[in-house]
Amino acid sequence: MIHAPLRIGLVLAAIGFAAAIPCAAAELQVGMASVDITPPVGCRLSGYFVERVSTAVHDPLQAKAMYFAQGDERVVLVICDLIGISRTVSTDARKRIADATGVPLSNIIVCATHTHTAPLYFGPMREHLHAMAVAKHGSDPCETIDYPKFLADRIVQSAIEARAAAQPVKLHAGSTMQEPPLSFNRRYFLEDGSVRTNPGRRKDVVRPAGPIDPVVDVLFMRDAAGEPMGCFTVFSLHLDTTGGTEFSADYPFYLEKSLREAFGPRFVSVFGLGTCGDVNHIDLKAAQRRTAAEIGTALADTVRKVLPELPAVEPDLAAAGVRVDVPLQSYPPDKVVEARERIKLVGTRKLEFLEEVEACKIVDLQTRPGTTVTLEVQAIRLGRDVAIVTLPGEIFVELGLAVKKASPFRQTIVVELANDAVAYVPTKKAFAEGGYETVNSRIQPGGGEALVDAAGQLLSQLASN
Ligand SMILES: [Zn+2]
Repeated sequence: MIHAPLRIGLVLAAIGFAAAIPCAAAELQVGMASVDITPPVGCRLSGYFVERVSTAVHDPLQAKAMYFAQGDERVVLVICDLIGISRTVSTDARKRIADATGVPLSNIIVCATHTHTAPLYFGPMREHLHAMAVAKHGSDPCETIDYPKFLADRIVQSAIEARAAAQPVKLHAGSTMQEPPLSFNRRYFLEDGSVRTNPGRRKDVVRPAGPIDPVVDVLFMRDAAGEPMGCFTVFSLHLDTTGGTEFSADYPFYLEKSLREAFGPRFVSVFGLGTCGDVNHIDLKAAQRRTAAEIGTALADTVRKVLPELPAVEPDLAAAGVRVDVPLQSYPPDKVVEARERIKLVGTRKLEFLEEVEACKIVDLQTRPGTTVTLEVQAIRLGRDVAIVTLPGEIFVELGLAVKKASPFRQTIVVELANDAVAYVPTKKAFAEGGYETVNSRIQPGGGEALVDAAGQLLSQLASN
């Protein structure tokens, strides 16, 4: 990998800092809506470096929207049961949501949950498998609809429905610890000093190479009559616990199922993915992995247990966003030529795993114009004590912990995979150690720390405004 000199441009307030009108007296309105985004069965699934074709719907994939309004402030947060949200889809959907609702573009966020049992609709594997199918059949039998357009339409619909459902709410927010331990750092030091992702049960594993974030964040909404309306749960754990070939939202499906058993069938459970680029559910000391049902149900139990202790939020809504120019990795022409040949072998077992990963990464980098990628960091202030930060990409947990530590808010909820699928965002330390996530990453070392700095500045502005 050739690194150009590191230049990380921080363009503060480039997408506007929504004027925070002191309006603590105005009531907070929230609307929530779920819209089905499941593609036709037969569409490819995303998540691994091999072709997988969907065979059934285990549970329908959803775009879940939350609309917040107080005084003149408006914020829309949509979270989709997808591996990631492509920049093309988020840009299209956000513009159309702004047109349809009047919410400023900088106050609209579209995220993904990272479920690995959702469609493959963008990126180097999609492009490669689609081109192969077209060459063979004249058209792609796995793509019977224009899914990116369908998806953007449904995301817009979810935001419009959430706005229409807006009503005065009582908001409670707080956090607690996971119970039982569900998440584990998946990078380990081996005896030879190297770092390996998901090493399995081998004798030379020394210790995890990074931390986890054990916190479960909960925002709980009740209507004016005090009836439970919906919940926003955020937890840092990779959504890759299901596997197979059936569409599924992974463990958040069971979280909602269990919360609906407690609060009624119309209760909406929105799940936001905390920073977990290097965190998954594999406990090297356990004989068996926990299932999606066990994880989702455990999270629901945790939410219900902490509920009586959650403090009420005195609402004081505001939002802010900033763009950060992060340098991309670059490769010489001969490596690009090699990668274009090698991608044809991905999934055939003729390449080493990390060779497959690198080939996909290098081919993908050629589709991105310029030498930098402009990433958005956004923040929502819900009250004087509580804020949400959203970041693009699969963020290493240490970066999320750093955002929380630097935040002036009592509770800072950090959600990843917002607006763009920029693959892994490792720490500088992890880049130096190497391993799967760093080979898969598109950005240069230091990009993640720049996002953390930007988030810190946004949170300070929102706290002092
Ligand atoms: Zn991942």
